[in-house]
Amino acid sequence: MNDYVISIDQGTTSTRAIVFNHKGEIISSGQLEHEQIMTRPGWVEHDAMEIWANTREVIGQALTRANLTRHQIASVGITNQRETTVIWDKSTGEPIHNAIVWQDTRTQEIVDRLSGGNTDRFKDLTGLPLAPYFSATKIIWLLENVEGAREKAEDGKLLFGTTDSWILWNLTGGIDGGVHKTDVTNASRTLLMNLKTLDWDESLLKTFEIPASLLPEIQPSVSEFGVVESNSLLREVKVTGILGDQQAATFGQLAFEKGDSKNTYGTGNFLIVNTGDEIVHSKNGLITTVCYQIEGQAPAYALEGSIAVTGSLIQWLRDNLGIIENAADVETLANTVEDNGGAYLVPAFSGLFAPHWRSDARGVLVGLTRFVNKGHIARASLEATAFQTSEVMEAARNDSGVSFKELRVDGGMVKNETLMQFQADILNIPVIRPKVIETTALGAAYAAGLQVGYWKDLDELEQIWQEDKRWEPSMTDELREQLMADWNKAVQRTLDWA
Ligand code: ADP
Repeated sequence: MNDYVISIDQGTTSTRAIVFNHKGEIISSGQLEHEQIMTRPGWVEHDAMEIWANTREVIGQALTRANLTRHQIASVGITNQRETTVIWDKSTGEPIHNAIVWQDTRTQEIVDRLSGGNTDRFKDLTGLPLAPYFSATKIIWLLENVEGAREKAEDGKLLFGTTDSWILWNLTGGIDGGVHKTDVTNASRTLLMNLKTLDWDESLLKTFEIPASLLPEIQPSVSEFGVVESNSLLREVKVTGILGDQQAATFGQLAFEKGDSKNTYGTGNFLIVNTGDEIVHSKNGLITTVCYQIEGQAPAYALEGSIAVTGSLIQWLRDNLGIIENAADVETLANTVEDNGGAYLVPAFSGLFAPHWRSDARGVLVGLTRFVNKGHIARASLEATAFQTSEVMEAARNDSGVSFKELRVDGGMVKNETLMQFQADILNIPVIRPKVIETTALGAAYAAGLQVGYWKDLDELEQIWQEDKRWEPSMTDELREQLMADWNKAVQRTLDWA
């Protein structure tokens, strides 16, 4: 009896396997961290072999902790850190180099060479600016810098993948017939996929000098990718769902309608707004990406906006100012005061991202009087996350014309109820936190389960999805406008400082 679905969540710092039941509840899980290899400033690598070994192990942990065998697993879903680039030899199964992680900026020089001063060169085709973040320049770096790599690639001996493809290939047999595939959401982050055709774009491959034989086949996120090989604990179980992490979270939040949105509050924030079948090109510095695709259906597209510093501002209060001992204390401290006391903290620690895009901006704390104390600073820090979220949502609204009716939230900061209430107040829409906040793993499980009929359709998912808590806006328009106006003045100071 197929009672469960298993989701593999291959993240930036760890790999997890989570088993879900038919109600979408977590039954068991396993997790292992992997090494962050930083050999030079700006370089971040992972050992792909370590990631694969960890994947096998966490699958074992999750199954044994709930006493399960493969016969009880209906299907496997995979979600992963996006853009991180692995190239391996298909006859030995060995990576030719450590994986180059999405945060790695070593390819800035390649970006400068290719952009000719115009980083929007490929934006119409791919939805993305030319930046070290995306996979293409990481592939170029590997082909140029690993001895013999270009010749082997030209001879069709090497394979490229983001970590979903790397795990899929290994899970389905590796050198003995592993399947080399990825899904549309991961492919949309490489800078090599045409957003309209959902296939690798020949003109881009030519410009980047990347051989087509290196690339995985692109499939819908909800489709049959392959069958797990015979040596695995999951042998003969099908892999039927793959989504990049932010898109998986969007799927796990059931943001299936045009205008549905989710915001993940972690170290930084990731907002995704479903724009339906429309490819919306942003004028406000948001990225255009594929939200998901179900086999046999048109894809859903999305706008994505990221904020660099949100949860990490709370870490800064803890580590650099020492005014709290742990992240959760910020709420207690913020609640010792009524409001921000006139103080605004704009954490432009590494410049400002969307919608300002000023890398030279620097952080400010303004509005100080003798009255302001550490409670106000804690409060201003929480408010900074809500104000920045409001800016990015406003940018998405201007680009897409959709008006938001609610915001679904997840990530480490959403435990903070003071922040959630203020967020609802500033956005003037309800903010909703689901019961299962592991939305990334849940989204991949939903995708995998849908394909095999474990869940019948999206309506069935709507029925099992459970809200944990909802915050309704209760602020007056007048106060909201005043706070936003003051925030905007504070943001201006970060630019004046530059
Ligand atoms: P990531 O996935 O980016 O590592 P998480 O989703 O685990 O991040 O969230 C961790 C972040 O949330 C940290 O930056 C931490 O400072 C912040 N955080 C954790 N708990 C709270 C809290 N109660 N209030 C505010 N921020 C919090």
